[in-house]
Amino acid sequence: MFNPEELSTVNNAIAVAEELVSNHFKMSTNQWLRLKYDVKTLASLNSSEIVTEPFAQIIRYEGKREGKELGSAVYDFYKICLQDHNILKALGKAPGLTLFPFILYIITHELVHVVRFNTFLQHFDASPEERLAEESRVHAMTHLILSPIRSTDLSPVLTYFKEWRKPFEGLATP
Ligand SMILES: [Zn+2]
Repeated sequence: MFNPEELSTVNNAIAVAEELVSNHFKMSTNQWLRLKYDVKTLASLNSSEIVTEPFAQIIRYEGKREGKELGSAVYDFYKICLQDHNILKALGKAPGLTLFPFILYIITHELVHVVRFNTFLQHFDASPEERLAEESRVHAMTHLILSPIRSTDLSPVLTYFKEWRKPFEGLATP
């Protein structure tokens, strides 16, 4: 589980990622605020939200606005569940990988997913093949968003995720 110092690194990364992703999609502050999501770390996850391998997963919940009973008051809420244990384990294994750039990549990636779900560029309930193709697209976009960044050394992270950017050949043919 992240310690307090690591949690503050995570919070900084969330702020930077939000800025980068909203700029990338040319979203106004108001448009961004209408996205319903939250980023949570292991300490705030229930057992069904914890997974053994991925660095994060997004869970969609149905939200209801207070005081309204009609269907239109229902909205999708995305909970980005960071998997502290898997992130920390990877840090120890890959050369040059440090927490800030690594977590910046992970959160940027997850926010790209959230924007695409919200704008119906991607369905949450897509087929497994389509999900894999979307993964590749989202990794490519994350790379595009992060590669101009010079304030932190992202090259070990971009190298780490290199394989994911390749198109999944053979997906179209069974
Ligand atoms: Zn993803």
